[in-house]
Amino acid sequence: MTHSEEFYNRAKTIFPGGVSSPVRAFGAVGGVPPFIRSAKGCLLTDVDGNEYIDYVLSYGPHILGHGDPDVLDRLHAAIDRGISFGAPSEEELQLGEIIVSALPSVDRLRFVNSGTEATMSAIRLARGVTGRSKILKFEGAYHGHADSLLVKAGSGGATFGVPSSAGVPPEIARETLTLPYNDTEALKTLFSSEGDKIACAIIEPVSGNMGVVLPDDEFLRELRRLTEKYGALLIADEIMTGFRQTYGGAQILFSMEPDITTLGKIIGGGLPVGAYGASAKIMSQISPEGPVYQAGTLSGNSASMAAGLATIQKLKTPALYSQLEEQGRKLSQGLKEIISRLSLPATVNRMGSMMTVFFTPDPVTDWTSAARSDTALFRVFFHESLKQGVYLPPSQFEAFFLSTRHDDEVIRISIEKMSRALIACRN
Ligand code: PLP
Repeated sequence: MTHSEEFYNRAKTIFPGGVSSPVRAFGAVGGVPPFIRSAKGCLLTDVDGNEYIDYVLSYGPHILGHGDPDVLDRLHAAIDRGISFGAPSEEELQLGEIIVSALPSVDRLRFVNSGTEATMSAIRLARGVTGRSKILKFEGAYHGHADSLLVKAGSGGATFGVPSSAGVPPEIARETLTLPYNDTEALKTLFSSEGDKIACAIIEPVSGNMGVVLPDDEFLRELRRLTEKYGALLIADEIMTGFRQTYGGAQILFSMEPDITTLGKIIGGGLPVGAYGASAKIMSQISPEGPVYQAGTLSGNSASMAAGLATIQKLKTPALYSQLEEQGRKLSQGLKEIISRLSLPATVNRMGSMMTVFFTPDPVTDWTSAARSDTALFRVFFHESLKQGVYLPPSQFEAFFLSTRHDDEVIRISIEKMSRALIACRN
């Protein structure tokens, strides 16, 4: 029995599924998740001494790779001065200022401790500002595990949502409307009937949670036009995309101009963090200035702020994003060539350093097309990659992430290893 197997057996008696977050349990792919002992650069080492090239990067935060020396130095220095004060600090202020200067749509912000807290608070803010209850989200999106967001479309084409988790009251789910991503006509129809009841629409500018799916320009434009026309707020959920494809967020690349932005992952440099921000006017509605309540014991703690600050300061070098784009392009190109040579039914979607190999031959533009993927084939690809020493997200419907430590040699080796996994998919 390996150490991972032994630990997993013990963990299952202590934690539901043996894990602290469901996808880590390998439910979608089967098998035993390796227990990770350490990580450096783009490599993970498990408790049995196996090494893996990491394309999960803790689900996105480690854009500089694991254990970046500048991030660690700043973090150590901050910890030496105290971990959390429950009081304002200079690093919190500096990180706040740097984020505000990076995002034209954000004048002021509030730090929280996770992405879920950020989206939950952003929705409360939108409801507080508009005095409306309904919210709109898109099928296949994930915005964290708040009640209003664990909702899927009702049956028979009804847009009123039903809970996607036990424990979410149906009356809360009914306040969440759900539409297909990238469906401009459905947007028009919904706003013409419900527009004046909608507090906000929340969207991942580039979807990462049904796998990577790019937005249609017209869809994003129409979403902005309709939300504005009907007095609903537009929330760009940039928890995954913030500082991922460009300095700031995907909203800059798509000229999106949202009313509220949610952030997380990269802005904490690998430590727990979230943030939501908006215009000065909207943010003045947050307590203690305004009537929308939101608070947090560890919000803005010095450890997360220091790691985030060191990360964002390093990302200010535009060359880093060209390098990430180039490495992402090389990896996706390499995989596409092998897929084509083997005549595999697979499609690669990519935006910069985020990508997904969908095991379907057709274009993937929304949840319906993503869900056509052959998940049994993905399972083979995943396990063969793992065996070869490439650690991919354990679900067809997640994004691979690259870091600045995935250099040419790492990409070349990854393609070689993943090509063996793709060959196994043909057999
Ligand atoms: N929003 C998006 C777009 C995400 O990708 C995630 C997490 O993956 C969340 C929200 C929730 O963030 P957290 O897991 O930090 O609560």
